Amino acid sequence: MDPAMIPGTIPSLEPIAMSQPGQYVPDPTEGITNVEDLPEPQIVRRSRNYRRRLCPKCGRGAYRLRRVQRTLHDLGDPATGRPRQIHVTYSQHRCSACGAYFNADMDDLALPKCHYTHRVVALAVRLVVEDGLPYRAASWHLWRDHRVFVPFATVQNWVEAGGKKGGGVRRRAIP
Ligand SMILES: [Zn+2]
Repeated sequence: MDPAMIPGTIPSLEPIAMSQPGQYVPDPTEGITNVEDLPEPQIVRRSRNYRRRLCPKCGRGAYRLRRVQRTLHDLGDPATGRPRQIHVTYSQHRCSACGAYFNADMDDLALPKCHYTHRVVALAVRLVVEDGLPYRAASWHLWRDHRVFVPFATVQNWVEAGGKKGGGVRRRAIP
């Protein structure tokens, strides 16, 4: 997270709230070296918790087995410098007809097993594919302007998985 590793200046994206050209926006986390000293994350709660869902395998109704929580990292608030987390409570189901286990659908928020929202993935890929930032610079930009920490190797994985030049990222997000 050393700004010195950024070669030259970072091309600006479309204007974000609170930042106008030429306006100096102080970095509220300047000088902070411990993650614990960061501003408290803003927690947004989402529910995908259902008593009964249709089994994706056989189409019959399947009751909830248990309730689970998952934390997703979202784009933070540039005005306050606070990171943003989405706490999703969701139901896991077991189909008594065919024995299948499945989670309530939350693909609108994030891909399965991904710790970041679609917005984070889409922005990271755009920074590299459309704005031409190196992976490390993209990672730094996400941290500096959006308060979301994404290791540069993760950005690289996303780009290689779905961010082919000229291709749509969105396409990959749809199962
Ligand atoms: Zn079933």
